[in-house]
Amino acid sequence: MEPSQSGEPLVVIDHVNKHFGELHVLKDITTTVGRGEVVVVIGPSGSGKSTLCRAINRLETIDDGTITIDGVALPEEGKGLAKLRADVGMVFQSFNLFAHKTVLENVTLGPRKVRGQSKAVADKHAMELLDRVGVANQASKMPSQLSGGQQQRVAIARVLAMDPKLILLDEPTSALDPEMISEVLDVMVQLAHDGMTMVVVTHEMGFARKAANRVLFMADGEIVEEAKPEQFFTDPQSSRAKDFLSKIL
Ligand code: ADP
Ligand code: MG
Repeated sequence: MEPSQSGEPLVVIDHVNKHFGELHVLKDITTTVGRGEVVVVIGPSGSGKSTLCRAINRLETIDDGTITIDGVALPEEGKGLAKLRADVGMVFQSFNLFAHKTVLENVTLGPRKVRGQSKAVADKHAMELLDRVGVANQASKMPSQLSGGQQQRVAIARVLAMDPKLILLDEPTSALDPEMISEVLDVMVQLAHDGMTMVVVTHEMGFARKAANRVLFMADGEIVEEAKPEQFFTDPQSSRAKDFLSKIL
């Protein structure tokens, strides 16, 4: 499936560098994410995948270079930052649901506080989204009463409730028991087919083959290869990508 490539890319990352002390974790990263595009980021542990995602959401600062979303440079603070976090949803490995709120409240909190929706409007939309990810019957439960796969689907519904321009998913299935992985991947594939713009850090090659428009392979803080999934998996160009794929496939 090809994304619609009308107009400017949604995300433009231009010569971005990031250090943690002496450690150069993002090295001159330049890439784009088109509207409706699904980009899968893969690479060895410590290669900078999470830092790149977090930089797009400005959970991490960058040292130099620029990141723009929908033509706007990432804001430093204040209202702009709150808007950015609403427009750019993030799904983490560890679900990060609010433990003391019900499933429904987890999904409605953002729309009510940040988007100013009434309880009735937010509840109705949240129930539709919980239904879409297959957990509507869990709405009144607390997160701890749900399986990991159900919690992660709630986390996805919570992000969708903000009507984001882009969703970043950082190893969303890595903390799940094997039998729950596919129920989360199925939701992600559906989102991709619905045209959601996504950046997904994952080693789930089945998902990449099914849903990705492009694979970014990172190693040591660099984008080493960028290719369509079928090309990347069947004919990786660099020795680092060949080596990585031989370990995970
Ligand atoms: P990946 O997600 O690809 O495993 P990360 O982006 O998490 O990689 O990390 C890249 C490198 O930056 C690693 O060497 C990691 O140890 C280091 N790192 C990540 N976060 C911090 C931090 N807050 N402080 C110092 N070093 C960090
Ligand atoms: Mg990571």
